[in-house]
This record gives sequence, structure tokens and C-alpha cells, in this order.
Amino acid sequence: TPALAPPRHETRATCAYCGVGCGVMIEHDGTRITAVRGDPAHPANFGQLCTKGASLHLSAGLDTRLLYPEYRATRTEPRRRIRWDAAIDAAARRFAGIIAAHGPDAVAFYISGQLLTEDYYVFNKAMKGLIGSNNIDTNSRLCMSSAVAAYKATLGADAPPCCYEDFDHADTILIAGANPSYAHPVAFRRIEEAKARRPQMRLIVVDPRRTDTAAAADLHLAVLPGTDIRLFEAMLHVLLREGMLDEAWIAAHTEGFEALRAHVAELSPAVAAEVCGVGADDIVTAARWWGQAPAALSLWCQGLNQSIHGTDNGTALIALSLATGKIGRPGCGPFSLTGQPNAMGGREVGGLANLLPAHRDLANPAHRAEVARLWGIDRVPDTPGLSAVELFEAVRAGKVKAVWIACTNPAQSLPEQARVREALAACEFVVLQEAFRSTETAPFADLMLPATTWGEKDGTVTNSERRISRVRPALPAPGEARADWRIARDFARALGPRIGKPQAARLFAYERAEEVFAEHAATTAGRDLDITGLSYALLDAAGPQQWPFPAGARVEEDAARVRLYADGCFPTANGRARFVVPGRALTAEKIDARYPLHLTTGRLRDQWHGMSRSGKVARLYGHVDEARIELHADDLAVRGLHDGELVRVASRRGELVLRAVVSPDMRKGQAFVAMHWGRKVLGSAGVNLLLGADLDPLSKQPELKHAAIRIDKAVLP
Ligand code: SF4
Repeated sequence: TPALAPPRHETRATCAYCGVGCGVMIEHDGTRITAVRGDPAHPANFGQLCTKGASLHLSAGLDTRLLYPEYRATRTEPRRRIRWDAAIDAAARRFAGIIAAHGPDAVAFYISGQLLTEDYYVFNKAMKGLIGSNNIDTNSRLCMSSAVAAYKATLGADAPPCCYEDFDHADTILIAGANPSYAHPVAFRRIEEAKARRPQMRLIVVDPRRTDTAAAADLHLAVLPGTDIRLFEAMLHVLLREGMLDEAWIAAHTEGFEALRAHVAELSPAVAAEVCGVGADDIVTAARWWGQAPAALSLWCQGLNQSIHGTDNGTALIALSLATGKIGRPGCGPFSLTGQPNAMGGREVGGLANLLPAHRDLANPAHRAEVARLWGIDRVPDTPGLSAVELFEAVRAGKVKAVWIACTNPAQSLPEQARVREALAACEFVVLQEAFRSTETAPFADLMLPATTWGEKDGTVTNSERRISRVRPALPAPGEARADWRIARDFARALGPRIGKPQAARLFAYERAEEVFAEHAATTAGRDLDITGLSYALLDAAGPQQWPFPAGARVEEDAARVRLYADGCFPTANGRARFVVPGRALTAEKIDARYPLHLTTGRLRDQWHGMSRSGKVARLYGHVDEARIELHADDLAVRGLHDGELVRVASRRGELVLRAVVSPDMRKGQAFVAMHWGRKVLGSAGVNLLLGADLDPLSKQPELKHAAIRIDKAVLP
């Protein structure tokens, strides 16, 4: 008789990739994930998935997984398998030794927007509430911190006021520094569908390249890198000149506009056209489409954020919404797209060097006191923590002697990779908590701790529209892998007594992810993101919910929750939104005779970050199958180079060999390389080898979007 087919089950979870936060149904037989489909009930995607999400099941094999802890006491020996209790003991002993000798600021955590909110919460509490340092930062610093700073500077809180439903209502959508066709595909599909239903909708895209998103636009403004602010200022100039401002709304709900009005008075489209490299008439058209639209929405992402003036980029774009009163209404507002699946959750729990739980600020003494009370500790330290780039510079300088890295790959993803690698090589003790065995960072790890990943994890994430979704395990943890929050908890419990803090057992008493979520929710009481009305039980019964969701809130869609600031009241000291006059900087690095090309970086449609997961799936190479540099035909011809030829690409920091590809999407003088390719493909550190580490002074986000480069014929051995 034929063997019975194993029973099929489906588990509801969310996609592991981008910040759209699509719901997925994981099909499995209890031992193996066999398929995935979009969750028709999830409000982020209503059953749709992009190519990455639809192939998640193909990335779920164990072939590249880290399945048990490994340790080496000295760098001269290989790592060997070790028991979990010995691994946690070694970590606690080594951290305690360094803290005793050099103080708590000699250790650091570097975590990830791939982690769940519960994971983030426990790591953050372990550093700020137990160790007594603020040296915890995240790879979200590389993608979202400028948007956070821009929201806080203008609207008073880190709260994207919009939602995906706004795509259906907007008459004009302005997408700046984002390529959602590739990076947020399901969201962009919704925009395309809205446009197909309402052909009068105008789509404006601001991007140096003619991306797929730009190709779908009614107006593409191919600005030169770093010049976006000048474009937004000139648009404001036109709105002012042509009487399209909402002066009554500005007077009633904002402050600081007169300074910005004076600032843009001379910044005409003709002036901006020179700087931005686009037509003055096109700037006027963009401004009129924005000003005349009953509902206008802006979207932005890394193209604005990853800049030395990323915060100003955001505040200048937000000013367009405020100056026309187009915020808090359907189809209106400034909408920052989040890159990673849980960049928002990390911000909510304050898992960054300058934040505290529930959008509190470390620099605010009252906020520190509140958190100390909530956690039941004496005090939260007031010394500012180190942000991502600063943290690894401090490691390199020998000031930070132990770093714990969770679910991220700084040896590939940070700029100035040679310096990051030097830092990791010199660091006294490196812990890497990872699901995958051989990332670029793995060779530097003294202790590797196997973590669970997509399909195995239990917790929550928050997507770009402030919607909290449950993540559920379909399968048990493989090998000896453990949940990230549990690893952090066990470490905290073991470390506490060694650093004179036996209260660690009480502070980290959680036995289930749900208990961590409940504590996190309690910290939000009375805050802008109040979620005291949410629980796993409610999310399981009613599905994903947007915040705020205070105690007593009803599950039915609530207008005040769907989009924020409908009443024109903002969470600033006087309730008014603020205009900010931006600075004059363009890019950190200028092109010159030696490095005459502008390099921009971005994403491919079918790959994700450093490819630890997406790189396992053969069909995801069908779109682009190798690392390449895209250029205008003239830039190759003038150098005697040819389409398809291998070329040497050099910046002031390093060089790579890449295949040159002529692209009709590139302006003359500009080049593009996707950010995903790392050691496995390039045989070297990865594309970020070329990028510098200049930071936005407010957000501390590095300028990963631009470098000056040159290309030459590759001389191969
Ligand atoms: Fe996943 Fe983003 Fe694609 Fe949705 S759009 S399936 S969240 S990668």
C-alpha cells in the first residue's frame, strides 16, 4: 500500500524581508517547510507576495545554518563545538572580566532590524538596565535613523503618520530616494493598481537613475546625487510664488515657516535646475502637481536617508506636506518606508544608542527616570551610547573590547569595511549570534551562538504603517538553535551575578516571548505609541493592528489610528509642527580628476541585504546573476572600455573588479552597483568597501548612497 502523505499544516507569520510586512501562510508537515503563500487576510498585502517573499520556503533548508555553539579561547585555535551552558558561561565570564577592568562602556551590542521586537527589548534592557552602558546600536542606523530624526524635528515624534490605504486616495504621489518597485514591491504594486484605477493620479519620482519605479512615473526628476533638498526648496518656492500654500493651516498648526519662507525666496527653479541637473520646467510641473492635488503623499527611503544631510532631506520633504496642509487626511502626508522587517519595532523599544523604550530619549533626564522606575533599577546611565559606525571605530581604537553582534553582518554591511575588519580582528572578544554559519563576520567571532530564524520564531514585528503583526513558528528550532530573546536573557542572567547585579534573575524572569511583549507594552502607557491595549491574544484573535492601541481601544478601524494628526495637533511642546531651514551641503565626497564618477548604490529586485537568505535560492539569480557596475555608454567609450568587460572600480578606500554593463537608465558621469554582493561573489569584502563613513551629524547615519570612483581596465592575473 502506498505510504500516507504526511499531514499538511499552515502557520500564519510575516515575511522575513522588507518593511512592507506582508503576511504569509507557511505550509509545512511539522518537520519541513514545503510552500508559502500570501496571507489573504493580512492588511499589508491581502494575499500578494513579491518574488522574494514567494520563495521564502526555498531558503528554509538547513544546509547553511549554524546549529550548535562554537567557541575558541584564543585566536590561534579554531572554534570548537561547545555546550550551551558553557557557551553562556564563557560569554558572561569574558564580558564580566572586561567590565571589571575597563568599565561598562568597554562592551557593546550591535543588533539588527531583522530581530523581532521581543529580541530587541531584551537586548536593550540587558545593556542599559543591567550592564549600565548605552552602547547598543543596530543596523537600522544604516537605513532609518535620518527619517527618525526628521520626523522628530518636524512632527515631534517618530511616527509615520500615513498608511498603505493612502496609496488608494492620493492624487499625487512623490517618491524621492526610493525604488519601491524593487525594494517594497507589494506596496508599489498597490500604487500601480491605484493608478490604473484612477488615471488622473500623478506619480513623480526623484532618483538619479531611471529605476523601474522611475520608469512608471509621469515625471522623473533625475537629480544629481545629494541635491534633493535644492529640488524640494525650489518646489516650495513655486508653491509660495503661485499661491498654493495653505496659509491658514500653516498659521494654525505650525511654527518656523517665516524663516523657511525667507530661505526659499531666492531659490527659484532656475537656480535649483543648475544644482540638481534637471529642467526648471519640470520642477515647476512637480510643484504644481503637488500644490493642485487635493491629496498629495510623499514616500522616501534610503536615497534620502543615507546621506550626510539625511535628516535635512527628510525635513525638507516633510515641509511640502506641512506648507500645503496635506497631512492627517486620506492620501496625504510624508511617509517614510522602512527598509527592514522590524526597523520600526527596534525604534519602539528604544534599541538604539540614543533612545529608550517607547520613543523616550536617552538625553532626557525625566525619560531616564521613567525607564529606571519601569525596569525597577536605580538609574539608566546618561553617557551617550555609540552609534553603529562610531561603535566599530571605538572597537578599532581599543576603547570597546567586547562586541556582541546579533543577526547582522557588519563585516559586509558597514562602510569603510577595511576599518571594520581591522576593528573586528583587533577586538578582544567577539560574539556572533546568527542563524547562518558563514557570513562575512563569522571568521572574526570567538563565540558563535546559533539562533532561530524565519519559520521558527515567535514574537511580533511592526511594518512601515505602524502595524504590529505576529510572527509564529511553523517548525521547532533546528539543532541547538535558540530564540534570540532567550539567548540574550540567558546571558543577562549569567552576567548579572558576575558584575554584582544579582537582580538580573528578577529583571530577566521571562519564560515566553509573550511575557516580553507584555512588559514592552506596559512601557508605552501614555506615550505616542501606546499599545497597552494589545496582547498576543488580541493579535491572534483580531489580526495585525496599527499603533497607537491604548487600553480599551476597539479593534474596528479607528480614524485616529489609521492616520495620525488629523486634528492638526502634533506631539511637540506647543502642539505645532515645525519647519526646519536645511543646510547647504551636497555630498560628503566630491568627484575630481582622479575619481570622476558618482557611484550610487541600491537594491536588486530579487536579493536581500547581504544575501545570507536570498542568496540560497537559485531562482532569485534569474533577474541579475552577478555583481556588475552599470554605466552610461559614453563613460565606457571615453575610456576605451566595452559593454560586458571586467573593469577595476576604485574609490579612495579600496577597489573591486566588476563587470561593466551599459545601461540606458544611467546619466552620464554616474555609476550604479547593487549593495548585496559580498565575499562569496566578489572574493573580497563587498561593495561597501568602496563607500565612506561620513555621518549625518544628527542621525549618525552614514552616506552609503554615494562615493566618488574611477574605472579602469581590469588587469587580471
Ligand atoms: Fe516580503 Fe517585502 Fe516582498 Fe512583502 S514586499 S513579500 S514583505 S519582500
